[in-house]
Amino acid sequence: MALTGMAIYKMLPRTNCGDCGFPTCMAFAMQVASKQKALTDCPFLSEDAKSEAADASAPPMKLVHLGPAGDAGIDIGQETVMFRHEERFHRAPALAVRIAAGLSDDDAQAKLTEINDAVFTRIGQEISVRLAAVEIGGMSADDAAARVKALAEKSRTPFVIIGEDAAAMEAAVKAVADNKPLIYKATEQNADAFIKIAADAKCPLAVSAESLEKLADLTKAAKDKGADDLLLAFDGHKMPQTVRTITSARRAALRKGVRALGYPAVVDVSCENTMKETVLAGTFAAKYAGVIIMNNADPAELLPVLTTIQNIYTDPQVPNTVEAKLYEVGNVTEDSPVLFTTNFSLTYFSVEGEVERSKVPCYICVVETEGLGVLNAYAGDKLSPEKVVQALDEQKVADKVKHRKLIIPGLLPAFKAEIEATSEWKEVLIGPENASGIPVFLADKRN
Ligand code: SF4
Repeated sequence: MALTGMAIYKMLPRTNCGDCGFPTCMAFAMQVASKQKALTDCPFLSEDAKSEAADASAPPMKLVHLGPAGDAGIDIGQETVMFRHEERFHRAPALAVRIAAGLSDDDAQAKLTEINDAVFTRIGQEISVRLAAVEIGGMSADDAAARVKALAEKSRTPFVIIGEDAAAMEAAVKAVADNKPLIYKATEQNADAFIKIAADAKCPLAVSAESLEKLADLTKAAKDKGADDLLLAFDGHKMPQTVRTITSARRAALRKGVRALGYPAVVDVSCENTMKETVLAGTFAAKYAGVIIMNNADPAELLPVLTTIQNIYTDPQVPNTVEAKLYEVGNVTEDSPVLFTTNFSLTYFSVEGEVERSKVPCYICVVETEGLGVLNAYAGDKLSPEKVVQALDEQKVADKVKHRKLIIPGLLPAFKAEIEATSEWKEVLIGPENASGIPVFLADKRN
C-alpha cells in the first residue's frame, strides 16, 4: 500500500537539515509520496525506518516459494486483485495429492507413481499435479523420516508434509531438507514447535486457527520468530463458510493492507467422495486457494479441476492465440489434405489434436481472427472467404500441395461458393461442425 506524505514524514529525522536538497523534511516527504524521490535519499534514515519502509512497500500478499529453489519449486501468492476482470490472477494454485499415512510402503510408492503420471497437455500447455502431500500422522519420527525419504527419491514434485506431531515432523523435514517441503500445519496447539521447525529448516509453513483474528496473531508470531513463508490453512469441507472466510482474509490483505493476512491460502478438500472432492477443488481454485490438497489422483477427477484452474488463470485481457501460419501435422506430402481454422488457441489445438488422432498428415492454415473462434470471428467480421483466400496465398499453401482441395469448418458452409469462385481452390469440402468429427471425416475422404 502506498504511504502518505505524513506517514513518510514520521519516519524521517525531522531535523530539516537540507542535505537531501529540500529545505524541510516535510517537503522531502511529499516528494517521496509522489514517487519523485526515494526514501533512502535521506542519508540520516534510521535502520528501523528503513525496515518499516520496506514493509510498507512490500506487496500486500507475500510471494511464497514451495520446494527446491528455482524452477524445480513452485511460486504461489502475490495476488493483487479480488476479481479476475480487475486485472488477472497471477499464480495458479498447485494441486497436491495426498499419500495417506496408513498405506503400506508399496502402496505409497504406487500412489506416488499415480501423482508422477498426472501430467496432461491441454491447448498446448502442460497441466499437472504439482505437489505430493505425504501424510505422517500416527507415525514415529523414524518411520516418518523413512517414508518421506523413500518417496522423495522417486518424486517428480515437491512435497507437502502433513502431520501434527512435532517430533515426527522435525524428523521428516530433516530427511528431505533440500526439498523444502511445505509443513502442514501449525495450529494454536502446536504452533511454537512447528514455527521453530519451519524457521530452522527455512521451509514454508501452513498455519490454521479457528478465527481470522487468531490466524493473524499466529502469522505475526511466526514472522517474529523467523518463519515468514506462510500459508493460511483452511478446511475446504465447511462450504460455504470457508469461501466467506478465505474471501475476507484476501480482502483484508489486498484492500485494507492487513499484512498479517497477506499470505496465500492452502485448502484441504480431501474426501473419499470423488464427485464432491472435484466440486470443492474447483470452487477453491476460483476462491482463492494457492494450494489445494486432494485425496484422489484419478485423471477423471483431476482433469476438470486442472482445466478450471487453467481457464481461470489466463489473462482476460489477452485472447489466447496461436500464430497465424501454416502448420504441418504429421509427415505431410504434396497429397496431404488442407484445412483452415482460426487462431483462437482452443479452436486450433482442438483441430490439431483431432488431426493427430486421425493419423492422416494434414496442413492446417490458421487465419488471423484476433483470437476468436470460428462463429464468433464470423459474427464479428473477423473471418470471411476473402480473409481465408488471403491467408492461403500469404502462407503459400498452393506451393506445398499438388491438389486444390480445401476443407472448411462445417459451421461455415456459405464460404464454399465464394472461395471456389474467387480462388484457385476449386474443390471446397465442408468439414464437420465439431473438431471431434475430423477423424471420421478424413477417413471417409481417404476411402
Ligand atoms: S536530509 Fe533527511 S533529515 Fe535532512 S532535511 Fe532531508 S529528509 Fe530531513
